[in-house]
Amino acid sequence: MAVVSVTIPADLLPLDGRFGCGPAKVRPEALSALADRASTWMGTSHRQAPVKDVVGRIRSGLAELYDAPDGYEVVLGNGGSTLFWDVASFALVERRASIGVFGEFTSKFASSITRTPWLDEPAVTRVEPGTVVLPGVADADAYAWAHNETSTGATAPVRRIDGASPDALMLIDATSAAGAIPVDLAQTDAYYFAPQKAFSSDGGLWVAFLSPAAVERAERVTAERWVPDSLNLRLAIDNSRGNQTLNTPALATLFLMAEQIDWLLAAGGLAFAAERSGASSSHLYAWADAHPLASPFVVEPYRSPVVGTIDFDPQVDAAALAATLRANGIVDVEPYRKLGRNQLRIGMFPAVDPDDIRALTASIDWVLEHTQG
Ligand SMILES: *Cc1c(COP(=O)(O)O)cnc(C)c1O
Repeated sequence: MAVVSVTIPADLLPLDGRFGCGPAKVRPEALSALADRASTWMGTSHRQAPVKDVVGRIRSGLAELYDAPDGYEVVLGNGGSTLFWDVASFALVERRASIGVFGEFTSKFASSITRTPWLDEPAVTRVEPGTVVLPGVADADAYAWAHNETSTGATAPVRRIDGASPDALMLIDATSAAGAIPVDLAQTDAYYFAPQKAFSSDGGLWVAFLSPAAVERAERVTAERWVPDSLNLRLAIDNSRGNQTLNTPALATLFLMAEQIDWLLAAGGLAFAAERSGASSSHLYAWADAHPLASPFVVEPYRSPVVGTIDFDPQVDAAALAATLRANGIVDVEPYRKLGRNQLRIGMFPAVDPDDIRALTASIDWVLEHTQG
């Protein structure tokens, strides 16, 4: 299939064409709320009550959304989830980690830990993309994996590793799961994420639920080794307790994230989020399963409710299909670049209307009918 410019009939198109996996769709209602508040919000001090109140709303709203166990704290700082990987190597992993690798993001975390000079070589358990693997039991003080591998669209169980030393920390990259996929936080010590995916906001911030054991580890480890201030989790904890960040945050990001948390809470919390993403993803996978030219990439039971990866028959050029969709206002359904498959990847975070996922598959069907053969 060559790149052909076809115009998808307007009545088939989704109302909102944003299907990215991060940055992902920001709800228009949240953007309007930001626009309404813009001149008294943007360009005001993050050390004053209006911004501190919103940071407080984010922290208490997240604790409510997740029914956070006693003693768990919501901590935040600048730099996104990638920066938190470095926070982990400076302030959470004491000597050695055990890591489950099942895609690009888990692989990047493993690489960052492996290259940290003061840590021992981590134990790395790896599988090919399309399924998941938990870290193996090892002589380790931290176990790390992702709740949802955004590069492949696979969701892993989140539970303490059987046989791990009782003081080992469970570090979960929840960047694309948080705000959409329910979890029992008691099974984790650091459940960290960034707001540009299911929290329907912009990037640049990291947020983490920390267990009392993780807080204790961070305090001890950062007292023992040299840590730059920007990676010093103890400083982030201290600032977060005062509803602040160490240095200046992006105010629009905070505002939009708070709006999304309020929206989720008002609609029924994580159960609502799971139901909405579940409606989108069950439609997408059923469509692909039934389609002669498409099939879900990830094996059951690991298919993600929020990141759908659909393989296409070799007679369909998925890159050209994505380009055609893009020309029609349906954007960011290209596959994760390094996966290198003939695939589309579709973000189905709670902000995405399941009706728009139905319109997306109808649009794809239309394009295939009008360009194939
Ligand atoms: C998007 C993503 C990241 C990177 O997040 P940044 O905020 O861009 O650093 C890390 N891990 C997972 C699982 C992701 O989906």
